[in-house]
Amino acid sequence: AKNRGRNRYCFYDSKLQAKVLARSALQSGLRQALSLQQFSLYFQPQYHSDGQMLGAEVLLRWFDPELGPVSPVEFIPLAEDSGLILPIGAWVLQQSCQQLADWQRDPVKTHWHLAVNLSVRQLHDPDFVKLVRDTLQQTGARPENLVLELTETQLLEDIEAVIAKMQQLGELGVRFSLDDFGTGYSSLSYLKRLPLNQLKIDGSFVRDLLDDPSDEAIIRTILALGNSLELAVIAEGVETEAQYQALCKLGCQQFQGYLLGRPAPVEQLTVTPQRPGL
Ligand code: C2E
Ligand code: CA
Ligand code: CA
Ligand code: CA
Repeated sequence: AKNRGRNRYCFYDSKLQAKVLARSALQSGLRQALSLQQFSLYFQPQYHSDGQMLGAEVLLRWFDPELGPVSPVEFIPLAEDSGLILPIGAWVLQQSCQQLADWQRDPVKTHWHLAVNLSVRQLHDPDFVKLVRDTLQQTGARPENLVLELTETQLLEDIEAVIAKMQQLGELGVRFSLDDFGTGYSSLSYLKRLPLNQLKIDGSFVRDLLDDPSDEAIIRTILALGNSLELAVIAEGVETEAQYQALCKLGCQQFQGYLLGRPAPVEQLTVTPQRPGL
């Protein structure tokens, strides 16, 4: 029995060790990824129900020659824990503003916005407001074309500090979208206090919209909330025509998802209207 006990212990131990090793391999890879230029940005288009492209969400990609492509779902939490999210996030912001400035010179794309995902670590960084101001200034990107996405759950910690920071950023003219909306536990009273411009309906509600009446009810509620608080509402994760039609019927006017366009390098964004007239 004693022996078996030890074996079991060894088994757990080696599994744990493998996990720790994988984590530290990712961690050290991540530390060099910026200087080795292993990051790139993908862009996923966002459309209005009139068919016009409004802009895109910026999605970070990491390709390490040994590890292959690593999902942001894996490496963003590591980057947050280690603090690497600050230099990485600054790079994403710089590239995104540069892209906005390029588009501004093209009459067809001049109004396109970019939605950049933020980690709350970035927001709490004392230099963040200055970073955003300087990056806008250096690149010449118009602040109103920059949308910062924060997730609902991120906001819950230290809400007063978050509100203050968002107000300072709002004064620069940048806009805010509340990502994964509906999955957290927002109290409606502070929603009113946040300088928000948009709510983003989480993809999980869109996924089961056609089969699950409670998901439809949640989407209805978010759309009504957007209406009464004068916030735009965008649905993410729209994969099928049926979901798109159902969302239109509920009054949703902005969409993002594989149906309309997958995340891709910037060259693949097209100005051709999608599903016009619906
Ligand atoms: P998110 O902000 O909720 O981004 C949406 C995710 O859904 C993206 O995954 C996107 O590729 C995926 N997606 C888009 N359309 C569809 C669809 O129709 N169906 C399905 N099933 N999925 C769809 P991705 O690119 O793997 O990013 C995962 C998460 O990583 C993001 O979730 C975001 O939280 C985080 N992330 C990505 N880039 C950044 C970044 O630059 N900074 C920070 N802080 N986080 C980032
Ligand atoms: Ca997002
Ligand atoms: Ca989301
Ligand atoms: Ca999500």
